[in-house]
Formats: sequence, C-alpha cells, structure tokens
Amino acid sequence: MAERVERRLAELEPGDAGDHVLLSNTYAAAGRWEDAAVVRTTMSRRRIRKPPGWSAIEVGSAVYRFVAGEDQSGEADGMLAEIMSRLAAEGYVPEVARALRDVEEEEKQLAVARHSEKLAVAFGLARACPGAVIRVVKNLRVCTDCHTMMKLISKAYRREIVLRDRSRFHTFVEGSCSCGDFW
Ligand SMILES: [Zn+2]
Ligand SMILES: [Zn+2]
Repeated sequence: MAERVERRLAELEPGDAGDHVLLSNTYAAAGRWEDAAVVRTTMSRRRIRKPPGWSAIEVGSAVYRFVAGEDQSGEADGMLAEIMSRLAAEGYVPEVARALRDVEEEEKQLAVARHSEKLAVAFGLARACPGAVIRVVKNLRVCTDCHTMMKLISKAYRREIVLRDRSRFHTFVEGSCSCGDFW
C-alpha cells in the first residue's frame, strides 16, 4: 500500500522528500532494511533532501532557535546533561536504534541525544520561570526517543511541555502525551 501511495504522491509533487521518507520508514518498520536502503539511495542520487530540523522556543519576549547538535545559547547542553543523568537514574534508556530510522540521513550522523527539540526544552527548563509551560515548535516530526524523553521530563520535573511538530500538537503532562503515542 505504501508503494502505491508513494507513486501517487510522486505524481502530485515530484521530487518531494516526504513520500520517500514515508516509504523508507514503512519498509524499516516492516523489517525490510534493504528496500529502505534502496529508497534512501534513490533520494541521495536524485538529490532529494528533507529540510534540516529545527526547534524554536519562546522565553520571555525572545525566540530562540535550535538545530540538532548545536547549542548556540551556551545553556542548553549543561541542562541537557543534568536532565539525562536524572532520567537515567529513573531508568531511562535512549531508544537510539528506533529513533534513527525516523530521522533524515544528515541528522543520523548527529547524536539523537542532541536533537533540536531536546536542546530547546533543556533551554526552557534552564531559563523559563518555574512552573511555566514550556512551548516548543518543531518543523519536522518528533522522533520516538525525543517523544519518550519529553514524557519523562514532564513527570520528573513536574512541568507541562507543549510541542508542536509537523503533524500535531503534543501536550506532555505527568509522564504521558495527549497524542496517546500515535503521531
Ligand atoms: Zn529526536
Ligand atoms: Zn505525543
């Protein structure tokens, strides 16, 4: 079915990355790694690229933008390390392998641990007023690992997090998400 859908989408918008990523992820989810790799190869041969991921957060009256693996604020990395050790103490194990299937090729080289939404939320925890809702906007779909981590942060830090990704709003409260883990 995904193959049929991809062909239709390609007719509607040739050269768009979305339908290739959808097909590749569907193959990966079905364990058809070789087919997934063929789709990825086709993408790079035809120079079809997904836009790079970024996340933005508003703190005070300023908007801060993060891209994966880059902490321009100088505050997010430190807070992220603190969050990681706190969550690790509560049994969190990063789902790197699953997350890697969902992200774009160039993002794969960067550690999942420093995805843009993680940096943005860490910055929010470091900077925003205690108790304030952390609101983040991301241009791409949130990966499984970031989603799991947001749930854990909302519980460990007793903080509501609202994350708008490309497909929907996710409201994380007390360890669960409004999307019911379906997005
Ligand atoms: Zn992620
Ligand atoms: Zn969610």
